[in-house]
Amino acid sequence: MERRVDQICAGPDSRSVVNSRTLATGIHPASVYCCDDPDQAERLLAGDESGYVYQRDGHPNADAFAQKCRELHAADWAVVTSCGMSALALATLTNLQAGQHVLISDQLYGRSTQLLVEQWKRLGVEATEVNTLDLRSVATALRPTTSWVIVETITNPMLRLTDVPGLAELAHGHGAKLLVDNTFATPWLTRPLDLGADLVMESISKMMNGHSDVMLGLLVGRGDDLAAYRNTLSVWGLTSSPFDCWLARRGLATFHLRMERASQNARQVAEALERHAAVDRVLYPGLRSHPDHGRLSTLANVWPGLGEQTPGGSMVTFDLRGGREGVKRLIEASSEIPFCPSLGEVSTTLSHPASTSHRRLSEAARHQLGIQSGTVRLSVGTEDPHWVVATLSGALDRSLEADIV
Ligand SMILES: *Cc1c(COP(=O)(O)O)cnc(C)c1O
Repeated sequence: MERRVDQICAGPDSRSVVNSRTLATGIHPASVYCCDDPDQAERLLAGDESGYVYQRDGHPNADAFAQKCRELHAADWAVVTSCGMSALALATLTNLQAGQHVLISDQLYGRSTQLLVEQWKRLGVEATEVNTLDLRSVATALRPTTSWVIVETITNPMLRLTDVPGLAELAHGHGAKLLVDNTFATPWLTRPLDLGADLVMESISKMMNGHSDVMLGLLVGRGDDLAAYRNTLSVWGLTSSPFDCWLARRGLATFHLRMERASQNARQVAEALERHAAVDRVLYPGLRSHPDHGRLSTLANVWPGLGEQTPGGSMVTFDLRGGREGVKRLIEASSEIPFCPSLGEVSTTLSHPASTSHRRLSEAARHQLGIQSGTVRLSVGTEDPHWVVATLSGALDRSLEADIV
């Protein structure tokens, strides 16, 4: 007798839907699955048999998406979480204990700093912020109790490049491990596990999903401790939504194309900005003028199709001569490039760190990092390159005219 579709607990490949194989992955929103008998229930719950019991423990869409991410990072395992912040929560809740110390970059994503400095303080872990771009400062700040060093591959918004291999060696020499937030770089540009990182997290809500309609996070690593991470994931309830995983898995089909185009666009935009009268300074890792340009080739994957130029990613930061007023005029003049304080979308967006991501810092602290009142961070999209350059240049021209009037 033919099995009804609703009797089938289909796996990630949906191989058994009405006896036909689907090319696309199905969506499996089921919160609970049926077990054949008590013996199977026990085997499933112990992980001795592959399959699903309860969505919070794991579900086919998370596994289908994680599998692709595992391949992209050349990792041994991958776990998908509800957002980037829960990926950091998963990494730290699985590994940290009261009495330990963590060394973190002084340029981490604001919420990550809050999680590590404020939340973990209550739980007995002390975090020290250091300039992790300077290995000597890191060496001085490492303590016998330091268990993890936590950094971002590409910092926000200055787009500084972290010396991942150097930091990994330094941390390992002191018995500490290295966790890298690779959100800005993505595995298209960098695979930190290949460079010595022990654990890599990403916000999938940004470039990896790319369509501004999903919240997800990712944790990837090497070795055989997947079970420990899956256990923390379920106990703390950091599980992802099947629908978001399905969307993100679908979007991955064009991920490499989106990144390639956005990165090419970003280079052209950066070059055009360097020539524009309204602009004081441009930061783009692919430009020779960037302070860490020399490090780019040591971080970046080799992409044969892209010729001699190492891709520099899709983010460009620049300072407007007109300060905050100049930023207001640019936003008014650039209706087609919306002011959105996030990144990694198919459309080009701009953000103003001083009033959004870095508003909690004092002006002095912002200056210390290099963030000025006229600093603009562009997330370059996948549009026609001529359109992006012409639209942005046009808006800058108009913002200058507004200044003169
Ligand atoms: C956005 C972001 C996060 C947090 O991710 P969510 O998906 O928003 O929770 C962490 N790190 C970096 C670098 C980010 O840009």
